[in-house]
Amino acid sequence: MIPESSLLRQAPTWQAELALAITDPAELLAALDLGEEWLSAARAAARLFPLRVPRSYVARMRRGDPHDPLLRQVLPLDLEFESVESYTADPVGDRAALYPGGVLRKYRGRALLIATGACAVHCRYCFRRHFPYGEANASVDSFAQALAHIAADATIREVILSGGDPLTLSDRRLRAFTDALARIAHVRRLRIHTRLPIVLPARVDAGLLAWLASVRRPVVMVVHANHANEIDFVVERALRELRGIGITLLNQSVLLRGVNDSGRSLADLSEALFAAGVLPYYLHLLDRVQGAAHFEVSMARARAIMARLRERLPGYLVPRLVRERPGDLAKQPCA
Ligand SMILES: *Cc1c(COP(=O)(O)O)cnc(C)c1O
Ligand code: SF4
Repeated sequence: MIPESSLLRQAPTWQAELALAITDPAELLAALDLGEEWLSAARAAARLFPLRVPRSYVARMRRGDPHDPLLRQVLPLDLEFESVESYTADPVGDRAALYPGGVLRKYRGRALLIATGACAVHCRYCFRRHFPYGEANASVDSFAQALAHIAADATIREVILSGGDPLTLSDRRLRAFTDALARIAHVRRLRIHTRLPIVLPARVDAGLLAWLASVRRPVVMVVHANHANEIDFVVERALRELRGIGITLLNQSVLLRGVNDSGRSLADLSEALFAAGVLPYYLHLLDRVQGAAHFEVSMARARAIMARLRERLPGYLVPRLVRERPGDLAKQPCA
């Protein structure tokens, strides 16, 4: 038997899982019974943006299928070396909207914080794959700077914790931040943009729920699932627990060629989300970030997919198709 004192000293399970994420392309391919033919490209492209994927997410992939929709999101490919005009390192104008402390200001009433550069998973299409997190990272002592920025501007009604993934931070750090935020009266809502409940559902543990329940503002959590296969019963249970403590749960997806670019796939996703207590929010057109051009779905095809979705689903299960362009006052609806 393990003495209780040593159990108490153990890190939470999610932190162990995070640390054990697969980062070696050879290991990922072996876990999925995929041949060596993918290896050299994966190794090379992983130097552009490292491979990172939690084991519990890999367990939801089909073995032996190089086209598995979850695998496509994380497997580095030689297509990432293609340089395509209009695909840039900063496709949504983040650098121009960045304030000290990792605060991004684009839209009225909302301040978005780059709370950390770390993610549990590295999505190959990520619009922040080239973002200079080292310069912008709010976790390195700059939460104080961010809080000062928010306190000084009474037009800020909503604070959005983003990243990277803010839930890779410890409960203690998150609580210190929201305790300080609670003293700023003009902030009415806290929003959290996170992929962790989807890719590492163990993160939704007693400590996280206790922190969220302690936040003295309504909390909106926007998770990020792209395919129904991501939502197994463990993820569903985690999402239900969040709903159970009164969190408003929304989902954003990215429309990705070879992953979810059909009416049927997205309808299945909406149904799975609803069953887990989550409503679809945004379906993003791909941001034109260098190395991700092979995921692009044309506007005409995106609109046709949206038409299929509207035919199949009740209105509240149809996400809004949007695009982000530098300088716009909001994300722009496209269909
Ligand atoms: C996307 C985004 C938001 C949130 O936009 P909503 O349309 O309210 O979801 C806020 N700030 C920044 C910088 C963003 O990129
Ligand atoms: S979890 Fe979000 S921020 Fe992190 S790599 Fe994926 S898309 Fe990018």
